[in-house]
Amino acid sequence: MDNNREVLVCAECHRASCWYGEFYCDRSRFANVVVLTVKQLKELNLEDSAYWTKKTFLEIYGNDMPDFKDEKRLSEEEFKSLIQSL
Ligand SMILES: [Zn+2]
Repeated sequence: MDNNREVLVCAECHRASCWYGEFYCDRSRFANVVVLTVKQLKELNLEDSAYWTKKTFLEIYGNDMPDFKDEKRLSEEEFKSLIQSL
């Protein structure tokens, strides 16, 4: 799997499955989204990597390389504090 692939996830629980609506976290109703890389998602280890594959992207977005360029990303500092908060 491409570690640089970008994945749109719920900004509260950091799971793509929540954003896709397969499972909603407690705060999803008011949550924004954030872009994480597969590498970051592997570090977080919060859900199955099947949610980050080309196949899933095709099913969800109809495109295996969706454009998330206008979405928020975490700085290195923000990602570090997120890891520490888990
Ligand atoms: Zn969520």
